[in-house]
Amino acid sequence: LAEVLGKPLSPGSTIGILGGGQLGRMLAQAAAQLGLKCHIFCPEKTSPAFEVAASKTAASYNDQDALKAFADSVDAITYEFENIPSETAEFLQKLKPMNPGPKALQMTQDRIIEKRFLRDLAIPVPAFAPVDTLDDLQKALIEIGTPAVLKTRRMGYDGKGQAVIREDTSPEEAFLKIGKKAAILEAFVPFEREVSIIMTTDMQGESWVYAPSENSHENGILSKSHAPAHIHEDTEVEAIEIAGAIAEALNYVGTLAVEFFVTRDQQLLVNEIAPRVHNSGHWTLDACVTSQFENHIRAIAGWPLGSTRHHSAAEMTNLIGPDHDRWLELAADPEVNLHLYGKKEARPGRKMGHMTRLTSLAIPGPSANDT
Ligand code: AMP
Repeated sequence: LAEVLGKPLSPGSTIGILGGGQLGRMLAQAAAQLGLKCHIFCPEKTSPAFEVAASKTAASYNDQDALKAFADSVDAITYEFENIPSETAEFLQKLKPMNPGPKALQMTQDRIIEKRFLRDLAIPVPAFAPVDTLDDLQKALIEIGTPAVLKTRRMGYDGKGQAVIREDTSPEEAFLKIGKKAAILEAFVPFEREVSIIMTTDMQGESWVYAPSENSHENGILSKSHAPAHIHEDTEVEAIEIAGAIAEALNYVGTLAVEFFVTRDQQLLVNEIAPRVHNSGHWTLDACVTSQFENHIRAIAGWPLGSTRHHSAAEMTNLIGPDHDRWLELAADPEVNLHLYGKKEARPGRKMGHMTRLTSLAIPGPSANDT
């Protein structure tokens, strides 16, 4: 397998992608640009990625026959979704090179394991405690205090499976709200801003990093990202060092996203790691020499990476639910880069597409000493 890993896949090869959402769709589009084919494997029969891929399998992640046939048909495997069952990942990685590797999945599927992994690397995270029962929650609230955020350990995304607990919140109700599932209680961080670092690491361990993105959320869902983020240079350097340490500890190959809280005194705390391309990096499609998607495909195919340099600043806005109805108005704006994901039903809270507006990079003005 090591030999296969070292040899770049030639154009015409097939990349297998687990997960068929918009991230899989944009990965498949990037692969097509490089003359690579994609085979999408996902449980849903209609999925945004199916429409743009050479082959597709709609089957359960537990269907070993379907997984075997999928592995036989591809040259390398990746995923766009970190909640792939660990048995599926173990089964597949014995058959074909899979990147990012199983450690990245193990460390990021469960919020407690993720926080302990970060703490062991001496990376700052919000105070946290595991919660399995209401009794645990009551004890954790004494230790951590309020406000705090209760989150399911697994399968949470876009603010789902979360409850904010304030002084007057009933712990019973909060526990009920998250379905009484195994959870983590985190101290609520009064952050000044949220930023993320997206970086891609190749098979030789070389990383290219994008300008940090600054993210705003509505109802727990990413609403806007703008890049470069308005943070101090030292904060940016520290965030990049943290992302690099995470990539190294995970023997990471591919695009990685690390989400941070930045406090008023410029302290960084890691909120979450995503072992995949990330919504806060969609702006790289329009504003960078090489997008996060193309670099992910290059990395897992054993190719050299492209430059992550941005030629413009960018503001990316997600089109969520009924925002999709504005497609014609947005298409009529010549300054908008419109990306629609081909989803049929614009349910509330569903990511239907995104748009990016490019703006000029700030050019430093003449200094006071210039004549
Ligand atoms: P997550 O799914 O953990 O990324 O949470 C979604 C969003 O909820 C984050 O991007 C924050 O805006 C907010 N959030 C999550 N955890 C915390 C926390 N411990 N303190 C403050 N805000 C939080």
